[in-house]
Amino acid sequence: KDTPVEGPKKVLLAAPRGYCAGVDRAVIAVEKALELYGAPVYVRKQIVHNTHVVSELEKKGAIFVEEVDEVPTGSHIVFSAHGVSPAVVNAAAERGLSAIDATCPLVTKVHREAVRFARDDFEILLIGHEGHEEVEGTAGEAPEHTTLVGSPDEADTITVRDPNKVVWLSQTTLSVDETMETVRRLRARFPNLQDPPSDDICYATQNRQVAIKKVARDSDLVIVVGSANSSNSVRLVEVALEYGAKAAYRVDYANEVKQEWLDGVNTVGVTSGASVPEELVEELLRDLADAGYGDVEQVKTAEEDLLFSLPKELRKDLQGKT
Ligand code: SF4
Repeated sequence: KDTPVEGPKKVLLAAPRGYCAGVDRAVIAVEKALELYGAPVYVRKQIVHNTHVVSELEKKGAIFVEEVDEVPTGSHIVFSAHGVSPAVVNAAAERGLSAIDATCPLVTKVHREAVRFARDDFEILLIGHEGHEEVEGTAGEAPEHTTLVGSPDEADTITVRDPNKVVWLSQTTLSVDETMETVRRLRARFPNLQDPPSDDICYATQNRQVAIKKVARDSDLVIVVGSANSSNSVRLVEVALEYGAKAAYRVDYANEVKQEWLDGVNTVGVTSGASVPEELVEELLRDLADAGYGDVEQVKTAEEDLLFSLPKELRKDLQGKT
């Protein structure tokens, strides 16, 4: 069953990959909150969708909860990068919690769009995955004006109140191609469908998909480092398969790579989701080198230099300290 391997073995390493500006800011926000206020600091939901990041922050004294009613009155609570609905903000205030809002500014932008279109009495067709925290937060800005569209197929069947008063918005971490297909099918039914004022799928999601498309074409196998609940990581596996990788898998850690995945493989494409620390990719590259894939070629399709300032509540308290 072990197919003999022909040709040189190598790794094509996608760039950009890994941490985006919103994840970086959210993780630093929890670390700074721990430094400023001392442990424990509570975090509503996973701060970012990565198993390793969450367990490292737990070691430092962060306590992750599902809802604000689990948090003792008077504590500090961080809202995750995926954003929260106004109902959650209000529940935290009513409970007397000091909230630090680590919602990614690019998610907040979509919230603002939702508020504005709802005020103008549009029906918002929100393209996204049901149950994802970001979708719950965005829909929560205008629940009575929002209809979720979970897939291109759903675009063919949803009903709207007034086809002349519809706009589409989306989750930030979707497949660009699939979302465009959903929009195309929505527009076929509702020709007056309005577009969002700017892209809702964020720069990091788009850049990581462009890079993996290029890598996938030349890869026998693609390995995506990322967690199962990370939307953008799971999309990277799908995009890799669509764009020519013969096989593609997602792993949280390098030790999940199965020996048989490498059977007959000359070129391994590697990337990581927007919530993945680079150390996890380095671990994978070390293991691949041990397996004979020590030759690493970077495939870079964009430069990223975006940085977001810390949440305003933290900036204020950090200034008070100096
Ligand atoms: Fe923000 Fe995009 Fe990163 Fe999500 S993936 S935190 S929207 S930059």
